[in-house]
Amino acid sequence: MASYDPDNIFAKLLRGDIPSEKLYEDDETLAFMDIMPRSDGHLLVIPKTPCRNALDATPEQLCAVIKTVQKLALAAKQAFGADGVTIQQFNEAAGGQEVFHLHFHVLPRVEGMPLRP
Ligand code: ADP
Repeated sequence: MASYDPDNIFAKLLRGDIPSEKLYEDDETLAFMDIMPRSDGHLLVIPKTPCRNALDATPEQLCAVIKTVQKLALAAKQAFGADGVTIQQFNEAAGGQEVFHLHFHVLPRVEGMPLRP
C-alpha cells in the first residue's frame, strides 16, 4: 500500500489551507459537509491524525472516527428529517477511494429517494 500523502485534500483542509463547512470537531476527529453532496446532509468524518484509509488505521483512529460517525449520523437524521442513514467508506483506488485520507461518508436517506450520482 502507498504511504500517506500529506498534500491530499483533507490534509490541506485540516491545516486550514482550503476552506470547509465544519460541522463538528473534537480532539481526534473533524466532520464537514461534502462539497458534492449525494443526498441532502451528506457529510464526511475524518481523523485529525494522518491515516490513508481503514486498511491503514489504528484501532484508536477507527474507534474515534466511528464514534463521531454515529453522533453525526443521529444528528443529521434528525436535522434532515431522514428515514435512515447510509454510512459508506472506500479503501484504495480499486475500492472507490479518491481522497487518500481516511473518511466515512454519512448520507441521510429519505424513503424512496436514490442517492445522486
Ligand atoms: P468518491 O469520490 O468515490 O466518493 P471518496 O470516498 O474518496 O471517493 O470521496 C471523496 C469525497 O470527498 C467525495 O464525496 C467528494 O465530493 C469529497 N470532497 C472532495 N473535496 C472536498 C472538499 N474540498 N470539501 C469537502 N468534500 C470534498
